[in-house]
Amino acid sequence: MAINIKEISEKDKNSVLHPFTHLKDFATGKFGEPTIIETGKGIRIQDANGNQFIDGFAGMYCVNVGYGRTEVAEAISRQAYRLAYYHCYAAHTTDELAILSDRLVKMAPGKMNKIFYGMSGSDANETQAKLVWYYNNLRGKPNKKKIIARERGYHGCSVLSGSMTGMSFYHDCMDLPLPQIVRTGAPHYYWGCNPEETEREFSARRAVELDQLIERLGPDNVGAFIAEPVLGTGGITPPPVGYWEAIQAVLKKHDVLLIADEVITGFGRTGSMFGSERYGIEPDLITIAKGLTSGYFPLSAAIVGDKVYKVLEDGADKVGAFSHGYTYSGHPIGAATANAVLDIVERENLPANAREVGAYFQAQLKEKFAQLPIVGEVRGVGLMGAIEFVADRDKKRRFDASLKVGARISKAARDRGLIARPMPHGDILGFAPPLVTTKAEVDDIVSIAESAVRSVMDELV
Ligand code: PLP
Repeated sequence: MAINIKEISEKDKNSVLHPFTHLKDFATGKFGEPTIIETGKGIRIQDANGNQFIDGFAGMYCVNVGYGRTEVAEAISRQAYRLAYYHCYAAHTTDELAILSDRLVKMAPGKMNKIFYGMSGSDANETQAKLVWYYNNLRGKPNKKKIIARERGYHGCSVLSGSMTGMSFYHDCMDLPLPQIVRTGAPHYYWGCNPEETEREFSARRAVELDQLIERLGPDNVGAFIAEPVLGTGGITPPPVGYWEAIQAVLKKHDVLLIADEVITGFGRTGSMFGSERYGIEPDLITIAKGLTSGYFPLSAAIVGDKVYKVLEDGADKVGAFSHGYTYSGHPIGAATANAVLDIVERENLPANAREVGAYFQAQLKEKFAQLPIVGEVRGVGLMGAIEFVADRDKKRRFDASLKVGARISKAARDRGLIARPMPHGDILGFAPPLVTTKAEVDDIVSIAESAVRSVMDELV
């Protein structure tokens, strides 16, 4: 059935409050018409006007298995016919949920023990904060509650996870961040290094700063450190050499839990099944979402390690039931979706594809962009990458924000049939294509991006 584009656009404009959309520009039509996305297959999506785009961002870094996977649709349908919903409160379960949880405990890095389910990365990080507090209350350390998060980290936009997020526009006019969240420096060598400082020295400095921060707050007041293995929305920035080793030594010294936010990096994106494996991270708690279902159904989880879980279980006699849960925790359709998606991830060895095709992708990005006069840095790992644009390479000077360089380049790419995201922190073009992307498709992505970058560069210089 053909869509009535005009009617759908009108209905949308009259009723949808769109995230990250200038509300007045949208209401007055200055933003233009909504884009109605209709279908998707492989790494491509199509809008209602018949325009095709390569989705160089896998939706929101989530459609890792690509669009149109009929086996996932069938698993969803099968479960919906069998049992569309039941809760998992008070020890109820479904076969799909038990199978998925057993699988995740075994798959996850480190000594993981239990899985608590939610619907989004934001709510899963909210759960992580509550787990940290619960854990420390139960083991008689009621003040050990502060959670340290990084500048430019992204952990969601609910009240606590939004507070963990280290970008001020997520806080403005929203009465965030909450005082329980404390900030430490971003792990970005390019912008953060001192003159003559090596990458390893920069990492060591970040660790010293963290150590000093914990000392200042008092180690008995600091419960956890939350971080993405690879900084994501803050600019797609892999950690500098030696960073995780140095940071983890500080956390261990002060008995501070490590929450690895693997919402983007989980299930293959960096070329390993988990970013923690790639970087030698030993988390106490792990957050997953996105790749868990490849976006085919909203599902997230807080994975709880042995150390935290044992305290929770031992404390049950004192506090009674674990009083935290959502109606949709452990949703059977979500679990069935995740099992079908993880079957594909394992069968097609998508982490290996992300490693191999990702290495080619990173090399192509460097070859085509690193020497351009408006490019400050090209960076990435596996199938996530970014190009950062600057006005002056030698002085590392940013473009005037009013020039909107990142947004213009992203639009130029879109006009040429490629979705690549203007990252919010600077003039950055971000890529995170599905993990099924082939080398030939990388060539398509890179050549469209190059044409887009050069067109805007010609306007600027
Ligand atoms: N954590 C990370 C690392 C993310 O990238 C995101 C979303 O992009 C979130 C958490 C929040 O997830 P959601 O948008 O599903 O709430």
